[in-house]
Amino acid sequence: ILLIEDNPDITRVVQYELEQAGYRVLTAADGITGLTSAREHTPDLVVLDLGLPDFDGAEVARRLRKTSSVPIIILTAMDAVDRKVNLLEAGADDYMTKPFSPRELMARIQVMLRRPRSSTALRSPSAASERRELRRIGALAIDVEGREVTVDTTPVQLTRTEFDLLA
Ligand code: CA
Repeated sequence: ILLIEDNPDITRVVQYELEQAGYRVLTAADGITGLTSAREHTPDLVVLDLGLPDFDGAEVARRLRKTSSVPIIILTAMDAVDRKVNLLEAGADDYMTKPFSPRELMARIQVMLRRPRSSTALRSPSAASERRELRRIGALAIDVEGREVTVDTTPVQLTRTEFDLLA
């Protein structure tokens, strides 16, 4: 797991938690170093701080996305909805708002690493057109295969991790 974070206290805590859980951790304290490390080591997952000294974490995510489908979890001090939408558009798979619980971060990382990558790309057109099983709980309907959620037939936008947790 590649951790790109310039705050040494957060880096130390997250690195410790991840290593306790058996993950191998690489750290980088700025965006350029992080991108270089991602190219050289092809991590299984990237945890990316939004406020880096050289450039914006969203820009790091965009650059990563040009060459890699690695899952990206963004750490952000901001809590604005617009910002989160931008992050997801930039290619982040999930985000956590600081201050965050290292244990929750661990749980999200574990969910993400258990999930097969690019599952939608592997789905054949014929399989997609088959009748999908919907799970219904009251007004909530979950199309597990299609990764879609509706409430009273209104689509709900979720991150990949939020969808997995819900499913
Ligand atoms: Ca920072």
